[in-house]
Amino acid sequence: MEGNPTGGCIAVLNAGSSSVKFALYEAGDNGALLFRGQVEQLGLAPRMKVVDARGETVTRRKWTNEQLDHRRATEEILKLGRELLAGRPVLGIGHRVVHGGMRFDAPARIDGEVLKYLGTLVPLAPLHQPHNLAPIEAIAEAAPQMPQVACFDTAFHRSQTALAGNFALPRELTDAGVRRYGFHGLSYDYIVAHLAETMPVLARSRLIIAHLGNGASLCAVDEGKSVASTMGFTALDGLMMGTRTGALDPGVLLYLMMERRMSAKNIEDLLYRKSGLLGVSGISSDMRTLRQSPEPEAAEAIALFVYRIVREIGSMAAALGGVDGLVFTAGIGENDPATRSEVAAGCRWLGLTLDEERNRRGETRIHAEGSRLTAWVVPTDEERMIARYTGRILATAPGSTLRPAVL
Ligand code: ADP
Repeated sequence: MEGNPTGGCIAVLNAGSSSVKFALYEAGDNGALLFRGQVEQLGLAPRMKVVDARGETVTRRKWTNEQLDHRRATEEILKLGRELLAGRPVLGIGHRVVHGGMRFDAPARIDGEVLKYLGTLVPLAPLHQPHNLAPIEAIAEAAPQMPQVACFDTAFHRSQTALAGNFALPRELTDAGVRRYGFHGLSYDYIVAHLAETMPVLARSRLIIAHLGNGASLCAVDEGKSVASTMGFTALDGLMMGTRTGALDPGVLLYLMMERRMSAKNIEDLLYRKSGLLGVSGISSDMRTLRQSPEPEAAEAIALFVYRIVREIGSMAAALGGVDGLVFTAGIGENDPATRSEVAAGCRWLGLTLDEERNRRGETRIHAEGSRLTAWVVPTDEERMIARYTGRILATAPGSTLRPAVL
């Protein structure tokens, strides 16, 4: 696909619980970004914003809540895609799919059978998987000739051993799929690929990657492969997040059910939407807001966020048998020098000293000269990773001729 002779494009859809993000790239591993945008606030007051490669806004639209659900949002995105591409062909559409179960350790071309399997995983990720599958189904109906590829958040972690994946539960439950899967895999995959290109020696060493966004997790990576991660059966486990608890003594759930008589739905709401930075601060789930707040509760929430990261870094270092590099990524990891500095202070025992000036400027290398543990800031790009995989799968699929399809 070198040089993109067909002029074809790859479209990427990333459907979350209240948003559908999308991007259009020229085909090719590092094909130019053409447009990116999102429909957000689905279920509240849906609105769309699209920017071009230079970040200039090309479209803004609003709908009332009744007008737009996930499926209709996908239709609107396809319609807009057609306009923006002005007849330029689309080779395929890549989707972020949160769960690939134990079957998928790599992205997959979607057909009826694959879609059916992915549907069976809905009980494992009821808040995410149905939203991920809705656009795939909508496109399969509206444009059945369009090749579609699923890129899984779990796939990167399939390299983990059973030891790292198993809970101490009766075997029957483990066999039924109640085990650790790990998430944020596309982000970790992108970081590892980027390091392999730019710093190959570092990429082959023992790394802890800290994906710190609204969702947050750590991944222990050895020789480019995931060996452990803080997220487990669901994306609730591990670190404290914007609105999610992270790891919680399971006894708390028993207490909430038996003493507080909370229903499963209310507990779900508490664990996913009312806890984390929001719950502890009582102010906001957004790190920027908390950093600017003079309230002691904001500082307490941040302190707990950092403490949990430092504790879990210890756990990841143990899983790796030592650590050479710590990589920060995602909204907070990329943009908040204070969080990086506070986490680094808790990692002094691992031999980490930051260069505070480099950290403040958000340079790629932020450790001080002579620091035994190195530290880095690497912006993640999950959509780019999906576009890459989609292009590669379509190019290598048996019988594929990469015939452009009409969106
Ligand atoms: P998502 O998981 O929804 O993709 P992001 O990776 O965009 O989330 O991360 C969102 C988080 O990043 C929010 O807590 C936000 O406050 C934080 N963030 C973004 N920019 C900054 C900044 N300049 N300083 C501090 N925090 C920031």
